[in-house]
Amino acid sequence: RIVYVNGRYVPYAQAAVHAEDRGFQFGDGIYEVCEVRGGRLIDEARHMQRLARSLGELEIAAPMSAAALGHVMREVIRRNRVKDGLVYLQVTRGAAPREFLFPADTEPTVVCLARPMASAGLDARALEGIAVKSMPDIRWQRCDIKTVMLLPACLAKEAARQDGAREAWFIDADGFVTEGASSNAWIVDAGGAVITRQLSSAILPGVTRATLRDVLEGEGITLTERPFRLDEAYSAREAFITSATQTVMPVVRIDGRPIADGKPGPVAQRLRLNFHQIAAISSA
Ligand code: PMP
Repeated sequence: RIVYVNGRYVPYAQAAVHAEDRGFQFGDGIYEVCEVRGGRLIDEARHMQRLARSLGELEIAAPMSAAALGHVMREVIRRNRVKDGLVYLQVTRGAAPREFLFPADTEPTVVCLARPMASAGLDARALEGIAVKSMPDIRWQRCDIKTVMLLPACLAKEAARQDGAREAWFIDADGFVTEGASSNAWIVDAGGAVITRQLSSAILPGVTRATLRDVLEGEGITLTERPFRLDEAYSAREAFITSATQTVMPVVRIDGRPIADGKPGPVAQRLRLNFHQIAAISSA
C-alpha cells in the first residue's frame, strides 16, 4: 500500500509524520472521507467545499488548491488500485514545538490514504440493517467542523459495540438526537415524510446528507429538517443513517427496541438504491 505524506508517495510502513505534529498533540487538524466507486470519487466537489470551510474555521492555510488535492486523492486511489473503497484526506496545522498558540510559518501536514471496502450496494449489513445505541452528546459546540478530535466518537462507538450496536446516536441536553458518532441521523414518520435535524453547529453538515436532500426531491419525498427525540425515533416507521462510507444504512433497532417490524424499511432501501444515480461522480 502507498500513502501520500507531505508531497511524497511512500510505502505504508514508512508513512509517518513528525512527533510534534499538532494533529497528534492537540487534535489540531481536519479531514475528509470520500467514497470511491468504480475507481471514481463520489461527491468530490462537496467534500472539497467542506474541507475548505473546516480549514477556514480553524485558520489553517490551505496546503494546495482543491484541484491539486483532487489530484492527490486520484493518485492515491490509482496507486493502490482501489475500485470500491474510501479515500481519507487529513490536513493538520503542521509540526512545531509544543505550544497552544498557532505557530508562525508552519507548513500544514497533508496525509492521504485509500483502502478498499465492500461496494455499498452489495454490503450484507445493509440488507439486515444495523442497531444503534443512544448516548449523551459530550462533544464540543463546533461539531460543524470536521476535526480529527474524535475521542467522544471513539468512546461512543466502543460503548455501542459492547452493546451489540454498530453506531451511537448522540442526544443533546434537551433530549433531542443530534447525529450519529460518524453519521447523520434520520427517521421516517407515519405519513412517509423524512425527518433529520437542521444544520447548525450541533452537527456535521454531511455530504451524504446534502446529496440525499437532492435524492428526496427527485423522489418527491417530503423532507422536514427539525430536531426529533428518542421516543419519536423508537416509534418511527423507519430510521436510517447516512455517511460517505455507508451511503444510506437502515437502522432496525435503537437501544434494543425494534423499529417498526425490525427490518430495513422501504424508504431507506429505495434511497440507498437511488443514491448513486444522483450523487456526483468525478472522472478517474
Ligand atoms: N456526522 C459525523 C459526526 C460524521 O463523522 C460523519 C462522517 N464523517 C457524518 C455526520 C456524515 O458525513 P458525510 O456524509 O459527509 O460522510
